[in-house]
Amino acid sequence: MAAAAGSLSGPRLRLSSRLALVTGGGSGIGRAVCRRFAEEGSAVVVVDVDESSAEETLRSLPHGDQRHSVFVTDVSCPQSVHSLVSAVQKQFSRPPCVAVNCAGITMDGLLLKMEAEAFERVLKVNLMGTFLVIQAVARALIASGAKRGSIVNLGSIVGKVGNLGQTNYTASKAGVVALTKSSAKELARFGIRCNAIVPGFIDTRMAAKVPPKVLEKVLQLVPMGRLGDASGGLFM
Ligand code: NAP
Repeated sequence: MAAAAGSLSGPRLRLSSRLALVTGGGSGIGRAVCRRFAEEGSAVVVVDVDESSAEETLRSLPHGDQRHSVFVTDVSCPQSVHSLVSAVQKQFSRPPCVAVNCAGITMDGLLLKMEAEAFERVLKVNLMGTFLVIQAVARALIASGAKRGSIVNLGSIVGKVGNLGQTNYTASKAGVVALTKSSAKELARFGIRCNAIVPGFIDTRMAAKVPPKVLEKVLQLVPMGRLGDASGGLFM
């Protein structure tokens, strides 16, 4: 069915009735997720704190701005996330039935030298941002009477195994997994699924910030000996 991808006039696409909201959609994994959803026929809301990168993602999607939209939002700000979901509902006349939480940052530093602000900021974006989006989307879905929804959150392998220089990031990603499990338990009765994925190292702007020495060690643990490819090497 790969030939149908990208053409809405072809055979019915798997996600043609869906509206998907993707945070961190301006780069890396979030951008690849936006593309994949759009190729499967979904309308996509590209959310990012950086407008130009979000617009670039939008331009790369099949049916660009006729079908999809950009919203500039800082996911760590409760008011912004609330306004985002209200604005999406207004524009599309329904809440998103899928939310993928890809927005994330790193502010690396060794534990003994890390400023409290760097710890707090990473927790705020990665963990609280994910909480705020789950809560706003779930509230909107329940209020609209929708009987199903799907929320996918990005954890990280280092949230399980730890990593030098990333006490803040690893704590946030371990938190995302726990947040996902508790949210799944609470939201199941509304038909809303909540899942997390826990990727290894993927070749994006975020991974490019990892010092070469650390990366070298990481790659020694990867059987393929290379970083993962967000754009779908998985399906080749
Ligand atoms: P990326 O290329 O840096 O993309 C992250 C995007 O999130 C960027 O466009 C970034 O904008 C945006 N963002 C940052 N803060 C935001 C905020 N407050 N509100 C809204 N958007 C914000 O990183 P990535 O590698 O694709 O990572 C995507 C997700 O996967 C993250 O949650 C990351 O922790 C997770 N992950 C990544 C890897 C990896 O190896 N790459 C592995 C495991 C998990 P700016 O660029 O302007 O900051």
